[in-house]
Amino acid sequence: MQTTRAIVYLDKFWKNFKMIRERIGPDRHICVPVKADAYGHGAAAIARASLAAGASSLAVAKTEEGAALREAGIDAPVLLFSQPLPVEIPEIIKHRLIPLVSDGEFAAMLDKAAGAAGIRLPVHLKIDTGMGRMGCPFHEAPAVASQIAACTALEYAGTATHLAAADSAAVDDRAYTERQIARFNEALDGIRAAGLNPGIVHAANSGAIILHPGAWFDMVRPGILLYGYKTVEETEAGLTLPPLRVEPVMELRTTVVFVKQVKKGETISYGRTWAAPQDTEIAVLSVGYADGLPRLASNRWQAFIGGKAYPLAGRICMDQCMADLGPASGVRRWDEAVLFGGPAPDAADLARLIGTIPYEITCNINKRVPRVYEEF
Ligand SMILES: *Cc1c(COP(=O)(O)O)cnc(C)c1O
Repeated sequence: MQTTRAIVYLDKFWKNFKMIRERIGPDRHICVPVKADAYGHGAAAIARASLAAGASSLAVAKTEEGAALREAGIDAPVLLFSQPLPVEIPEIIKHRLIPLVSDGEFAAMLDKAAGAAGIRLPVHLKIDTGMGRMGCPFHEAPAVASQIAACTALEYAGTATHLAAADSAAVDDRAYTERQIARFNEALDGIRAAGLNPGIVHAANSGAIILHPGAWFDMVRPGILLYGYKTVEETEAGLTLPPLRVEPVMELRTTVVFVKQVKKGETISYGRTWAAPQDTEIAVLSVGYADGLPRLASNRWQAFIGGKAYPLAGRICMDQCMADLGPASGVRRWDEAVLFGGPAPDAADLARLIGTIPYEITCNINKRVPRVYEEF
């Protein structure tokens, strides 16, 4: 066992999955984004947990992430969200990843390679309805769909868009999302009017699952919500849907590796940013910013030890940080400490403190931190 571990509670993941399933009804597909090592939770384990729970597909951002799932023995459909380079096409074909295609040029490249390999590669059309990232302009969607459909080695299997502000309850953001949904519907009408079947239609990320039922279509793509964070509440938008009660899946845990007495006025860590306000005890914890505990949380966050919160003291170092236990805590060397999740405040609280989002906190938990899977 190592000192610092990310505990991943699969039972909570399954509960979150079930809540999303209940919200969207039995007939829609769920595609689970396991990009960025499943937001830091471990792609292969989360992929297996998702499929066991009833997900119909997975999604990655990089070709290599898709290849890693195949190497882990996972043979479910895998969507490739980000635009790959042409040199990645052979790997895409080898691993039967399903690319999101934004333009005729890339469709033609895929078609040529799939034809040469003697296969028919499923692809989804990606439409930009206002995210401003990848995707064909929405008014050009029927033309690009026709180009894809004309590729004999490609199967036009789905149509997608991505929402830019679905997790905001602000009135103008909600209106913007509804406008994106309307543009998507307009594009779908055009595709159908051209005599084409758009296949599996999908648009909803976590925010849209919470706030925009009109975006659910045939399949939803919940990332952060499955990992246990709500970036918006139903009530903020005045919705009467019963609120989803998801729970954070990851807990970052470490060990008190040293306890020492310090005198009033002694300083702790680099830069001497913290001085003991009284005679006190300091715990050294075996976790630092190289594990993914953000250095910006120095002197502002706390460690939970034995169910109590102790403020971090001094700068968070690469591999260690310190906590002020006060004069009579009873904390002992080798006790466990929780940095976020479980009994402690979660990654969203930590994110808020330092001005980021929970996605970045869990994604940044370094590879050297073992993921420990628990089911109760
Ligand atoms: C990452 C991603 C999602 C999931 O987003 P969440 O906000 O985590 O739910 C959905 N769709 C696409 C295209 C993505 O890149």
